[in-house]
Amino acid sequence: SELLQARRDAVLSPSYRLFYEHPIHVVRGEGVWLHDAQGRKYLDAYNNVPVAGHCHPYIVERTVEQARKLNTHTRYLTDKPVELAERLLATMPSDMGSVILTNSGSEANDLAIRIARMLTGGTGVIVTDCAYHGTTDLLQGMSPVTGLPTGRDVFTIQVPLEMQDEQEFGRLVRECLDRMQAQGVKPAALLVDTIFGSDGAISDPAGFLKPALEEIHAAGAMFIADEVQPGFGRTGGGMWGFSRHGIVPDFVTMGKPMGNGHPVAALVTKRSIAEAFRSHQRYFNTFGGNTVSSAAALATLDVIEQEGLVQNARETGAYLRLGLEALARDHDSITALRGSGLFQGVQTPSGEVAARIVNAMRDKGVLIGAAGRGNAALKVRPPLPVKRSEVDFLLDVLAQVLRSEAGR
Ligand code: PMP
Repeated sequence: SELLQARRDAVLSPSYRLFYEHPIHVVRGEGVWLHDAQGRKYLDAYNNVPVAGHCHPYIVERTVEQARKLNTHTRYLTDKPVELAERLLATMPSDMGSVILTNSGSEANDLAIRIARMLTGGTGVIVTDCAYHGTTDLLQGMSPVTGLPTGRDVFTIQVPLEMQDEQEFGRLVRECLDRMQAQGVKPAALLVDTIFGSDGAISDPAGFLKPALEEIHAAGAMFIADEVQPGFGRTGGGMWGFSRHGIVPDFVTMGKPMGNGHPVAALVTKRSIAEAFRSHQRYFNTFGGNTVSSAAALATLDVIEQEGLVQNARETGAYLRLGLEALARDHDSITALRGSGLFQGVQTPSGEVAARIVNAMRDKGVLIGAAGRGNAALKVRPPLPVKRSEVDFLLDVLAQVLRSEAGR
């Protein structure tokens, strides 16, 4: 593993960073587990891409089967992207009527911003203060968590970790719109991750996005629900994070878990928006919606449905939460719990404490991450088929680590 790391450092850009003080050389994945080159296994409770579990045999089989038969772009008439769009729309409110398939969440968000700016005639975009929305030049400027300066027309909301009431976020959007107006910027969009993952999983009270959507519409701008992290059932409150808030966004962007590891992403909009965009310009994306990626995404949807994964996210997520609550009662290193379903945010006093916990858990075979202001919140996100016994293992390891943290 050290040799591989040296080879990696020699050829891969130094901008790439590895997780953990002692990075893991993974060679195989299976269900909720990752296996390293030394034969150790780790419960992967960080990575939210393999939503159905690593290397799910059915998804692998359907992807390979399609790769053997045909792989081409969307300029030929093929059934898979059509079927995928139909299936995605069937999970959404009926106003949502049009899909553009892309390769990454960044491409989907980038396009949503482009369309919102085009149709509103505004440029101003509101994001939260620890948001991450993507890797393009445009989206880096809308991702304050990267530490890079935000774009000229980008305004941030310092999102409270605990909302006082359902109205609070809407009030903050209103204030932000006032700031924008004071600077002579016309608003185009509010862009939010509907579980506020990189802000530390801000989930409650469910419904708090509704007043925000009303404010942004009243200002003539559009609402973009970034579902790259919460989408595909993770929050247990339906297929989408926005489902918990009872809203119909103007745009829904999705990626990461969509192909269970295969690169496939999408932008879903209302049909009226798609029609208005068409009159402005055409869109083509060489790999977006290719036959194999579409097959991978269809198979992932099949598994989510057939294995009842949204329900498991809700039920096993509630079980995980109860276990975390018990630990929080006994340990000062947990100061608050947030999150929904199998997306749990565990607040610790500082980034140093969180980093120690993350690294100690890795050494004991459980992979989690840290996010939020100062990276002080633990991000716990096992694949959706996770069983109670596996959650017990996670909680047991966390309890051991919290005990040694208390004894420091
Ligand atoms: N939005 C959110 C909320 C994300 O977490 C990410 C990826 N971390 C993106 C967008 C960008 O997705 P991608 O890396 O597929 O471009």
